[in-house]
Order: sequence, then C-alpha cells, then structure tokens
Amino acid sequence: MKFETSLKIALSKGRIFKDTLPLLARLGIEPVDDPEKSRKLILDTNLEQVKFVMIRATDVPTYVQWGAADIGVAGKDVLVEHGGEGLYQPLDLRIARCRLMVAGPAGASLQGDRLRIATKYVKAARAHFAAKGQQVEIIKLYGSMELAPLVGLSDLIVDLVESGNTLKANGLEPLEHIDDISSRLIFNKAAWKMKHADITRFLAAMREAVEG
Ligand code: ATP
Ligand code: MG
Repeated sequence: MKFETSLKIALSKGRIFKDTLPLLARLGIEPVDDPEKSRKLILDTNLEQVKFVMIRATDVPTYVQWGAADIGVAGKDVLVEHGGEGLYQPLDLRIARCRLMVAGPAGASLQGDRLRIATKYVKAARAHFAAKGQQVEIIKLYGSMELAPLVGLSDLIVDLVESGNTLKANGLEPLEHIDDISSRLIFNKAAWKMKHADITRFLAAMREAVEG
C-alpha cells in the first residue's frame, strides 16, 4: 500500500501486537525492528509514511482521542472504560478474544446485598450489576484481581477470562458472563476527516484482511 499522508498507528506490546502484525503484513506493512527486543517507543516500518507507536494497552484510546496517533488497536474492555470519546470504532479485528466475567471462590454466591467486587473494569462492572438491580461496592484495582478474594479484600472479582487457568490456579472459578471481548480498530475523528483518502483505504484493506 502507498499513503499520501503520514499515519501513526498506536499498538500495545504483547497479544495485541502479535495478533495485529499478521493483519498489517497482509497490507504490506511490517516493522523494521522487533518491538519485543527494542526499547524504542516509535517504530519505523518498511513504509516511510507509517510508524507504530508502542503504548500501554489502557492508554491507546487516549493517544488516539487526542490525535497523538491517527489509528489504534484496543480491546473492547479498554474502550468501554475509556468511554470512546473522539473515536470511531468501525472494525472488530476479532483478535485477542476473551470474556469479561464475574468470578469468585468455587461455589460463591452472586446474590447478597453490598457484595464487594474488585476489578480494573469499574464501568463495565458497575453497569453489569446496575442492570441486574443489585447494589454492590466496587473496589478499583490495577491488576492481579485474583488475589482480592483470597485475602478478604472482596467477595468477587470482575476480570477477563480466556482459558480460566489463572482463576483455577487461585481456587477461583468463572461465575457469570458479562461480555465477549475482542480488539477493535479505532480512529481519531479529526484524522478521519483530514486524512480521509488514506484512512478509507487502510480501513478497507484491514476489513479484507480480517475477512480473508
Ligand atoms: P498490563 O498487562 O500491562 O497491565 P493489559 O493487561 O491491559 O496491560 P494485555 O494483558 O496485553 O495488557 O491485554 C491487552 C488486551 O488484550 C486487553 O485489553 C484485552 O482486550 C485483551 N486480553 C487481556 N487478557 C486477555 C486474555 N487472557 N485473553 C485474551 N485477550 C486478553
Ligand atoms: Mg495483562
């Protein structure tokens, strides 16, 4: 592909990067350095106009919202917490799939007044229990939610589950499904207008890569 304008694509290390690379490769876009080895945060690609910006997963929507990157790849979990302001989210890439679940000690009750729920996904958790008409106390954490019920910080957790092995290793089990999660292509709304020709072509090619 050739682009008229410069395009910055915000990606996060780990599974999103690994799963997005093959899609970008189908468009003929490949990084020059290995990001898992390089300490560089802005990576050149084989295309002069295209750069990858390596960002913490939760920060990707923020960079794109403010136009520091034109395009990004972010999980639906992260997008729900961010709120999606200033972003278009036209394409589900169907990568980094998992489920957002309520989990807890084996056999734990989901009922009860003022249950304490530890989670990184405060908005999603709040919306889930509010929809059920259940009063809960949400405790915001930034990681390792599995620990919270083990030491009495919370009754339950809301976390992403793929195989369930991490839960199991800590004597926990998935109890209730909240949402299916995958990663989306996101665009800055201003870049969408200013760089319309390039962005439209990029989006069409990514759509083909996902479906092909
Ligand atoms: P960090 O690990 O640096 O705190 P993070 O957990 O947000 O950040 P990743 O673990 O790389 O970063 O997750 C990035 C995205 O991948 C998540 O936002 C989610 O959409 C998806 N994801 C997270 N955990 C899983 C999982 N177990 N299986 C599949 N996809 C997942
Ligand atoms: Mg993680």
